[in-house]
Amino acid sequence: MKNKKNIGDKVLFSGNEALAQGAFEAGVRVASGYPGTPSTEILENLSTYEGIYTEWAPNEKVALEVALGASFAGARALATMKHVGLNVAADPLFTAAYTGVKGGLVIVTADDPEMHSSQNEQDNRNYAYAAKVPMLEPSDATEAKEFLKIAYRISEEFDTPVLLRTTTRVAHVKGIVTIGETESSKATLGIEKMPEKFVMLPAHARKRRGELEKRMGRLREFAETFPENRIAWADKTRGFITSGVSYLYVKEAFPEASVLKLGMAYPFPDRLIRDFAAQVQELIIVEELDPFIENHVKALGISCKGKELIPASGELNSHILRKSITGESVRELFAPVPIPMRPPNLCAGCPHRGIFHAISKLKVFVAGDIGCYTLAALKPLSSMDSCVCMGASIGTAFGMEKALGKESLGKIVAVIGDSTFMHSGITGLIDVVYNRGFSTVIILDNRTTGMTGHQPNPSTGVTLGGDLSGGIDIEALCRAIGVKHVTTVNPHDHEEAGKILKQEIERPEPSVIITKAPCALLPEMKKRKDKNIHRVIEANCTGCRSCLRIGCPAIEWVPLTPEEAKQSGYKETQKGHSYINAVMCDGCGQCAPLCKFKAIVAADQDNGNKNG
Ligand code: SF4
Ligand code: SF4
Repeated sequence: MKNKKNIGDKVLFSGNEALAQGAFEAGVRVASGYPGTPSTEILENLSTYEGIYTEWAPNEKVALEVALGASFAGARALATMKHVGLNVAADPLFTAAYTGVKGGLVIVTADDPEMHSSQNEQDNRNYAYAAKVPMLEPSDATEAKEFLKIAYRISEEFDTPVLLRTTTRVAHVKGIVTIGETESSKATLGIEKMPEKFVMLPAHARKRRGELEKRMGRLREFAETFPENRIAWADKTRGFITSGVSYLYVKEAFPEASVLKLGMAYPFPDRLIRDFAAQVQELIIVEELDPFIENHVKALGISCKGKELIPASGELNSHILRKSITGESVRELFAPVPIPMRPPNLCAGCPHRGIFHAISKLKVFVAGDIGCYTLAALKPLSSMDSCVCMGASIGTAFGMEKALGKESLGKIVAVIGDSTFMHSGITGLIDVVYNRGFSTVIILDNRTTGMTGHQPNPSTGVTLGGDLSGGIDIEALCRAIGVKHVTTVNPHDHEEAGKILKQEIERPEPSVIITKAPCALLPEMKKRKDKNIHRVIEANCTGCRSCLRIGCPAIEWVPLTPEEAKQSGYKETQKGHSYINAVMCDGCGQCAPLCKFKAIVAADQDNGNKNG
């Protein structure tokens, strides 16, 4: 086994690495997910353990359905996703709460307070409440591993799926984890027909609804004595109720205070809460995002403070917490070190840059999607006008087209990545064809899932474990759906891409343009020996800045004062010149055609004149 560690070893793990180890120790046999920051590394790590089937599913709904199927067969199963992924998987989740499980089933939802890498900030504790399933919430990597094992025991004991919620801090911050014993499911592996439990037609579902309420009652009782719902008594002038990573902020900001830490975020231990509240003079609820605990405590008739003091959006930290409650600014003790802002940008050599440059010239509305290409919304490309959720681009463009009618022809395009198209774009395209639209859809096929760190997807023909699996032919798929006009272009060739784009957006029928070129950061692209590095012949550069309009981070602008301009042999009025950083240049060639003064040359055309 690649990931061999001995029981008792102490290892420095991130929360996600700890969850992978926890899944191994819990005897998980099947794990499925869709990559999404901050959850991605759980499955990436778990795939290095032997004896566990791991996969990337095309989307989170499928991932949960696969995990549920494995559970029905008696195996412990795991589904992983980021917070918005649970929106996609909500459909099977709510019904899985009715069917219950056979082998333990845990769904890890990784929330992203502060939206470090997400389109919204949502508090998935609300899903536990809405779907009526228990939720555990670890505070650090050590708890992440242990709570996952506990989650499987709860799942099997109470016949329920269990949600385990992390947040970005818990998922990515490292801590010492002790390797533990492995355990296995008490369920028997095999096919067992239980239609009353697994077939949720109304007659069965009504019965299961009653079971669900009974289960919640038993879980509420369990929560009262669950050891991870624990009180640390100290000074009783001020008491805190908290959960997850907020617990660490409380401990750091108010080490002297009494704390009730809820390891189980839902359901609540009402008696424990009442006992704690009765013994402290002032009760404060500390939680990131929604007043989830606070609303419940108030509903119990207990007076407390919460969101009137503590921000309801963004990440907390010890500094924010201390300042919110005491008004003291203790930045030097707790605040993160300020670092210069560095706006995100498409990488040097990114194939998406070319097509967005071509799109920007057409001045059309660009219905975009989720992926690293969403960065094209920023200057200088400024070529994305909407971005809602995974797969929404095609439906958004089509909806606009239906609202505006023929006058929108040639004025709207949808842009979606290959992985996102596999996730949930296909159905949008089917809608366009079926309902007689004329949308133009650009599928940016960079042969990977770039945004989350290069995971394979059904179109790349490689599995999570590295096995070859054929791969979906996107062009053939689009034709099978009924799109008659499907063209594949090289996005590095602006001229060609622009020509096809113009032709297709004017077409009064559905059309798909596939821009096919590998992501510049794929290992095989980074290692290639024939990179045609470009440089600027400074003497030829007039300082027109045309090359800067594609926003390649390898192209720098060197400002000049009139004096410096004269000394460098330019007119006094020249404000500066471009410079290509050879270390960053990927040799994609997109910049050279933009310079009409032929100041940008590729290595294979370079005559060796270093300064023109
Ligand atoms: S390199 Fe060419 S395009 Fe870029 S600023 Fe100089 S003249 Fe303009
Ligand atoms: S060739 Fe030009 S556009 Fe491509 S990476 Fe190098 S500097 Fe950037």
